[in-house]
Amino acid sequence: MKFTERLKTGKKVFSFEFYPPKTAEDTAKLFATALELMKLSPDFVSVTNSSSGVAPYRTVALCGVLKAQFGLEVVAHLTCLAHTKSEIAGICGGLVKMDITNILALRGDPHNVEADARRSDYSHASQLIADLKKTGGFAVGGACYPEKHPEAPSLDADIARLKEKVDAGAEYLITQLFFDNAFYFRFLEKAAAAGISVPVLPGLMPLTGYKQMQNFTKLMQVGIPDALRKGIERWDGDKDGMFKFSVDYASAQAAELLKGGAPGLHLYTLNRSRAAIAILKNVRTDVAV
Ligand code: FAD
Repeated sequence: MKFTERLKTGKKVFSFEFYPPKTAEDTAKLFATALELMKLSPDFVSVTNSSSGVAPYRTVALCGVLKAQFGLEVVAHLTCLAHTKSEIAGICGGLVKMDITNILALRGDPHNVEADARRSDYSHASQLIADLKKTGGFAVGGACYPEKHPEAPSLDADIARLKEKVDAGAEYLITQLFFDNAFYFRFLEKAAAAGISVPVLPGLMPLTGYKQMQNFTKLMQVGIPDALRKGIERWDGDKDGMFKFSVDYASAQAAELLKGGAPGLHLYTLNRSRAAIAILKNVRTDVAV
């Protein structure tokens, strides 16, 4: 069953996010990760599309391998900043040939794309989504931000823009990572009040260190609850202690989300399997899904 069909039935969906590796060594590590994570029967894996020049095509190439060789259901990320309209049309043709029918459509972040390689046919993800829906046959999703997108003037204003993405054809949404479930549940209420009724998959990632916590707070503007901050400070520099603490924290977060009605979980893996496996095992024991 396609994961979008499964989402409609109310069955929980579990997924993993990968990014295209740059070196042969990292590629080998990613394939080892994919082999491990396959054993957990994810409903899909997604592949980010995060840089300029020829690099975006690594996304499509990796999607093809994960689908053909690993038999995984794949979601290809495509960004407005990395592609022109005609490149998108060409990529879509390629995806269809590879039998990949899932796309996560994003604007992208200007600071991740060199100025001379930035495309400007689309200014916002809603425009890309509308175009992708015209080609037909793709299940298209979009991103959302429980604590608001950093550029948005307010959460309400951001949700009004999000409604435009859903009206353009987004069939599901995946959230930015967050560490306090209250933001997710508040976001769902506000989104429903704005007329958004598509499933919202929470995106989770265990923190791996103090520096990473600082980066996320600064770049993504996500809040860090006191209990998490104290734990990260306590275990910083102790690899095993940090791993256990952050996996336990993310597992508790995941269990509460699923019990509270979240349609599933999207785990940001950073191309590593250990934390994702531990979290899913904990969650499946705790919530029996
Ligand atoms: P949009 O939906 O276009 O929104 C961006 C901002 O513009 C928001 O503040 C919104 O409120 C505002 N806005 C929207 N429409 C309008 C309008 N018509 N007029 C004025 N303002 C408007 N980045 C990558 O580069 N590659 C990836 O693979 C990638 N994957 C991601 C996956 C997930 C699940 C998430 C949450 C993010 C991902 N990102 C990725 C990051 C994303 O590209 C950035 O967060 C980017 O800044 C916004 O993308 P978006 O698709 O949400 O943009």
